[in-house]
Amino acid sequence: MPPGGGGPMKDCEYSQISTHSSSPMESPHKKKKIAARRKWEVFPGRNKFFCNGRIMMARQTGVFYLTLILILVTSGLFFAFDCPYLAVKITPAIPVVGGILFFFVMGTLLRTSFSDPGVLPRATPDEAADLERQIGNTEDIANGSSSGGYRPPPRTKEVIINGQTVKLKYCFTCKIFRPPRASHCSLCDNCVERFDHHCPWVGNCVGKRNYRFFYMFILSLSFLTVFIFAFVITHVILRSQQTGFLNALKDSPASVLEAVVCFFSVWSIVGLSGFHTYLISSNQTTNEDIKGSWSNKRGKENYNPYSYGNIFTNCCVALCGPISPSLIDRRGYIQPDTPQPAAPSNGITMYGAMQSQSDMVGAMRLPLSSSPDPRKQCMREKGMEM
Ligand SMILES: [Zn+2]
Ligand SMILES: [Zn+2]
Repeated sequence: MPPGGGGPMKDCEYSQISTHSSSPMESPHKKKKIAARRKWEVFPGRNKFFCNGRIMMARQTGVFYLTLILILVTSGLFFAFDCPYLAVKITPAIPVVGGILFFFVMGTLLRTSFSDPGVLPRATPDEAADLERQIGNTEDIANGSSSGGYRPPPRTKEVIINGQTVKLKYCFTCKIFRPPRASHCSLCDNCVERFDHHCPWVGNCVGKRNYRFFYMFILSLSFLTVFIFAFVITHVILRSQQTGFLNALKDSPASVLEAVVCFFSVWSIVGLSGFHTYLISSNQTTNEDIKGSWSNKRGKENYNPYSYGNIFTNCCVALCGPISPSLIDRRGYIQPDTPQPAAPSNGITMYGAMQSQSDMVGAMRLPLSSSPDPRKQCMREKGMEM
């Protein structure tokens, strides 16, 4: 290469690909490899993670496996013992429709169970310290007068949504003011956005990010249960016309088991689907319905501020609206200089590395509205995640 021809530009290019500069590049890379831990490994909530953080579930998953076994065994027996007979005697469309329904049920179940329901990230120690200071409850903590069981009185803020006053409660574990409709799941130990309920049958919370899949799961499961039940009965009736009722039961003993499972589960599944159809059409959550948050009994002026006022719009928003990105960057790497979420400490904040950023933060520190850079970054990055 002719020296001096290209000037500083070429020198710069050359030095970037030269072997000399690779040695200082290598050492931080090595360091990263040693210390590369993902955020799910230190996640503060009580959740289980699989596949390197891709799958997220509640801690207790026993009932979820029961759900899985019931669906797999009942459908498996139906396809193995009833479908061959029905396909020949009635129409081959029966196993086809049953198969489509089965895969839809399994898909929506796994999507509900394995995804982030909309967990709100906990405040970092710095953010928690700022918030505590704004609340003005810091003196006794700073003086160290707080005892082990200390818990400050409940704190709330009020916001007005569509003319309704909504109380925002402070979460002592996550150290944030919960956004409207969020609630803390005691089993998963997280605040969840638009918290519906914790469902042990799917082994996860049901919230903003997986509610539609939960609804589609119970709705399709009602259809599948009714479908299997109806055709198992048809199968037994057709056989008994040929060989008599007792011989028909002897010839296909699996049908008896399927009919029993379907008969006992169909009522609750269909009832639950109906209940959630009502909730979706009025844009309520199970949590709000149980508490009677928007019930007329609380006064004539009490109405649901989240409802769009028409059943069709409410359904469209719940089922077809955009899915918000996950706010917990669970597959992201932990940066050594990034503060980690504050550990739950019964309302007592650790004042380790307090910085004077309090002026920057508004009176209400909602993680959604005024997030610090790491969370915004996380939101951008997680656009593709489940
Ligand atoms: Zn919380
Ligand atoms: Zn939960």
